[in-house]
Amino acid sequence: MSDETISTSRRRLMQGASLGMAVAMSGAAWSAQKEEGANATDQAAAPLRDPRQGYPHPPFQEQSQPWPGLAGKMTPRPDHGETSYRGSGKLLGRRALITGGDSGIGRATAIAFAREGADVAISYLPAEEPDAKEVIELIQKAGRKALALPGDIRDETMCQNLVARVIAAFGGIDLLVNNAGRQHSFDSILDITTEYFDWTLKTNLYAMFWITKAAVAHMPPGSSIVNTASVNAYDPAVNLLDYSLTKGGIVAFTKGLAKQMIKRGIRVNGVAPGPFWTALQVSGGQTEKNIKDFGGNTPMGRPGQPAEIAHVYVQLAAAESSYVTGQIYGETGGRGEP
Ligand code: NAD
Ligand code: MG
Repeated sequence: MSDETISTSRRRLMQGASLGMAVAMSGAAWSAQKEEGANATDQAAAPLRDPRQGYPHPPFQEQSQPWPGLAGKMTPRPDHGETSYRGSGKLLGRRALITGGDSGIGRATAIAFAREGADVAISYLPAEEPDAKEVIELIQKAGRKALALPGDIRDETMCQNLVARVIAAFGGIDLLVNNAGRQHSFDSILDITTEYFDWTLKTNLYAMFWITKAAVAHMPPGSSIVNTASVNAYDPAVNLLDYSLTKGGIVAFTKGLAKQMIKRGIRVNGVAPGPFWTALQVSGGQTEKNIKDFGGNTPMGRPGQPAEIAHVYVQLAAAESSYVTGQIYGETGGRGEP
């Protein structure tokens, strides 16, 4: 047996031992899931379900909230997997920061990451405290550490502080989900003021750059970054010019950063969602008419629920995706992109 083989098998043994310890220490939720059945064969088969049925469809009730909106005030309330997501230890012991983790896609990802065994920090705007409080409780119920980070990420110092606070609370950071986003519907370029343009770019591009820059300096090999892009990067909606520009930028940033970061053993990927039923859409992200028909223009005939996309973030974060970097994963209800 060569030295390399010996050290590899020793390392595997150590990893197995520390995994066992982590399982033992990771709290009630995980043990409960484990007792229910570690093997798929122990569980009842999931019933086949037509993906077009059983989810909210247009026409939706007209509704509008002031930006940034609350998931808790939407009709119907989005499904973030609160009662449905079941983990299987895919992210045991990981330490995650999710921006915009209070609601929508970020909340669904926060719930899934915690139930997969990660400690989870969520960043959000102070006005979103009621949504954030629910997520913090759900992370704790999963037996994991939760960290609430209210504040406006259009500020470089704030972004640096976010990362520093995650490291102080969790002892490090190995998962970063750049998911916070600003979207406001404007019919014409003539209506987009410099102030609004700046707002969108600061939230969607600058903050991602600042937070990523602060985090990668501390992320060990094996870490993973997932950025939320959009179908609008590939087929910009007529009313989302500045937003689409940032989403195209996120795709390019993701692919370029992946090439740099693999030299540190860090994978970088993106997700391009189609229409998802979230607070961003009902707080100025779409016109009232678009809300009524929201998701109706997809082959699926309905918008996605945040609970339906969290598994993509889990998969891109998990060690099973060790050969996946620089990719954008589309989930669009059957539209062509990406
Ligand atoms: P959401 O409103 O639930 O989440 C967006 C979050 O961004 C907010 O909860 C807020 O906490 C955060 N945020 C916005 N501005 C901020 C600021 N200045 N400082 C700190 N936090 C700020 O909506 P969502 O749809 O879940 O959005 C998540 C991501 O998904 C966004 O990047 C969005 O562009 C993207 N996306 C959404 C859809 C969709 O149809 N919902 C489609 C494609 C892409
Ligand atoms: Mg929110």
